[in-house]
Amino acid sequence: MRPEILQAQVRPMIGHRARAMEELLGRMQPLLQYLFRTRRLVYVSTSSATGLMEAAVRNGARRRVLSLVNGAFSERFFRIARACGFETSALEVPLGHGHTPEMLEDALRAGDYDTITVVHSETSTGVLDPIAELASVAHNAGDVALLVDSVSALAGTPVETDAWGLDFVLTGSQKALALPPGLALGVAQETILKRAERNPARGVYFDFLEFEKNLAKNQTPNTPAVSLLYALDAQLQRIREETLERRIERHAAMARRTWEWVDAMRDRGIGLEVLAPPGFRSPTVTCIRLPEAMKGSEISARMRERGFTIASGYGPLKDTTIRIGHMGDHTVEELNELLAILEHVVTKS
Ligand SMILES: *Cc1c(COP(=O)(O)O)cnc(C)c1O
Repeated sequence: MRPEILQAQVRPMIGHRARAMEELLGRMQPLLQYLFRTRRLVYVSTSSATGLMEAAVRNGARRRVLSLVNGAFSERFFRIARACGFETSALEVPLGHGHTPEMLEDALRAGDYDTITVVHSETSTGVLDPIAELASVAHNAGDVALLVDSVSALAGTPVETDAWGLDFVLTGSQKALALPPGLALGVAQETILKRAERNPARGVYFDFLEFEKNLAKNQTPNTPAVSLLYALDAQLQRIREETLERRIERHAAMARRTWEWVDAMRDRGIGLEVLAPPGFRSPTVTCIRLPEAMKGSEISARMRERGFTIASGYGPLKDTTIRIGHMGDHTVEELNELLAILEHVVTKS
């Protein structure tokens, strides 16, 4: 995180029904809409992203949910839908794979689903699912709502909320937005609000109808995390200055640089491999498969000693992979420094 973003948080508190709060929320709305490429209101939720994943299902699902699963976070979406009482099935592909429009088409033909959950950029494997194509399959199937977790994608890769017809899309503050954790952002289309009206079990804290009603007055239903809103406000200004286009291009450049580095290492006889196949690679996070002799947790520990944070794999991939998060406010120059050190670590082990 940039120091000025951290710094933006240490300002005096304002009352959540005060005029200053309405000004703050009102000022952020056009920039949030710019970020989501939408004309609808963008919810700002004091919760982590998982809160809005649960809200998406509770407001937007009707009876039968199909969850596209290919890693830890898409599995979480599946578990949430099931735990909220919906009949939920998983369309699961092996770790490192994505979902094709054809797979979804077949699954929708075989089952009577009204809702789909999908993770845009599966942070545990570095796989990017083709959201625009999946959305068009969902809509061609009739009254099927697509709920999209774009947590590690939005602000780092194109998301066209309205043009792609994403019924609900959400993100969290601490990934490609490079903010402190604790905020989630989301957009619901009219389709979801209509479903919410008929969903008495949607609860109170995450009731989208309340979000809409309050946001129309530049308010939040409950007391928001004011300090985090200050950070978001400051970061939205920075993103506007950089422009979303250049931000996305910077992410694409970091991703290309990482993939080229992996190829170059393999040419030198170090058996690294990008887990996701070309065409399904996330521009924000790369998961790299390691040769048998290397352990993900050891490599990340040795990087930490040298002042760099990378992640080992997630869940079953813990020791067989490492993950580099080239997202947020990172730059190609910073990434080059990291890769130079990582090169040292993997060639000496
Ligand atoms: C990090 C992450 C989440 C969960 O975010 P929390 O803020 O911990 O709730 C959900 N989905 C994806 C794809 C993520 O990367």
